[in-house]
Amino acid sequence: MVAKIKKEKKKNEEKNEKSKIEKELFLEKKNAWELLENEKKEAFALAKEYKKFIDENKTEREIVRTVESMAKKNGYVNLKDATPTTKKIYATNHEKNILLVDLSGGNLKQGARIIGSHIDILRLDFKLNPIYESESFALINTHYYGGIKKYHWLNTPLSIHGVVFDKNGKKIEIVYGEEEEEAVFVISDLLPHLEGREGYDKPARNIIQGEEMDALAGSIPINDKKVKEKIKATFLKIMNEKYGITERDFVSAELALYPSMKARDVGIDGGLMGAPGHDDRVCSYLAVKTILESSNKKTKPAIVLLVDKEEIGSVGNTSMDSLFFENTLEKIIKLRKENTTAREVLENSKAISADVTSGSDPKYMDKMDPMNANKLGYGVAMEKYTGSGGKYHGSDANAEYVSWIRTMLEENNIPWQYGELGKVDQGGGGTIAYILAKYNMNIVDMGTPVLAMHSPFEIISKIDLLCTKKAYAAFFEKK
Ligand code: MN
Ligand code: MN
Repeated sequence: MVAKIKKEKKKNEEKNEKSKIEKELFLEKKNAWELLENEKKEAFALAKEYKKFIDENKTEREIVRTVESMAKKNGYVNLKDATPTTKKIYATNHEKNILLVDLSGGNLKQGARIIGSHIDILRLDFKLNPIYESESFALINTHYYGGIKKYHWLNTPLSIHGVVFDKNGKKIEIVYGEEEEEAVFVISDLLPHLEGREGYDKPARNIIQGEEMDALAGSIPINDKKVKEKIKATFLKIMNEKYGITERDFVSAELALYPSMKARDVGIDGGLMGAPGHDDRVCSYLAVKTILESSNKKTKPAIVLLVDKEEIGSVGNTSMDSLFFENTLEKIIKLRKENTTAREVLENSKAISADVTSGSDPKYMDKMDPMNANKLGYGVAMEKYTGSGGKYHGSDANAEYVSWIRTMLEENNIPWQYGELGKVDQGGGGTIAYILAKYNMNIVDMGTPVLAMHSPFEIISKIDLLCTKKAYAAFFEKK
């Protein structure tokens, strides 16, 4: 018996010795649920707040308005009303960008800590002439926004969100299809019976063409013998009764179809959360929450910038490419009579491009390099570089800066991971990082990993949500 115990002990020692080497030299990837086992409640509570935010805010305008009211509640003042001593300032741009600046960490001249994220999500925009009638249906003709797999959006209940400006410039806001009692819209797919060999052999990109992405919007003819398109007339009449608009008003509108589903827990333990458009309401929300909460611990001026149009290449006056950010900083500097310029502030700054990345999906591991892939449940994901096909068009952070970021995460015991978006030559992607990088600031991508990104039901882990928030807070607080 004693001999047996001794033998066991020796065996265990050998095992331990091996793990000692591993411990010292190997990179160990640990599940964040295990690392933060006492913080499960916190992760779930944060997820609940985030769920409310995404259920209620889908468009850029909706998000900007909500963030503006959150900021006001936390003592932020509109730049237009700010004085030289105002410490918390916000500014908006065309209702689609918002900039939050907290100066409790000192003057701007020393440089700021900047978190930039995008609030535009995948959707199906109405065309300018959107409504037509065919085969006794009214349909909404759409033009999809951003990089979607079009077939994902078939047979998915959709709601209308957006604004219309009528000929007098009056703004009409529309949200329809979110409430239980409201109807939804849907792009119906072909029944399997009729696909045939030829249909099933279609490559994914040809399952449905962009021009066929038209949603069912009505079916009852109007009771008026003189009208030719009676069902289209019914649609327009109801829209007119509800919102006072006519067909011509669609030209000066921004209306889109969004998946109408609410965020839901995924998996029996509720550790995951599915929703449309985590990309990038998740990083945006966490950045906002962080800047609003940690006001007395900031070591430098803290900035959160939410931009639009990332999903279509960051172009236009509400995108990261717009001079709104630089110009607004210039105004704040002038107001405070600081002896610096926006470009000097930006050059002295450190930044996080807060954006999601892909998580490993067990069904599609042939598309990933498992050694360099992020995983749901393993913490906030840092991506040193983005790009595709030989890092083309990627923003590649300097190793010195990654070292600084790494120290920040490790000092605070924040579970984190790092990888690439898929296999080399498989694909890839970009973020807003390269646009901020042109100011010569240090910047790196960091955010929450996502499964089924760009689909109508993207999936994240609640523990990664918490880790991402911790990382953003540490970023504002690091000396
Ligand atoms: Mn994104
Ligand atoms: Mn995206």
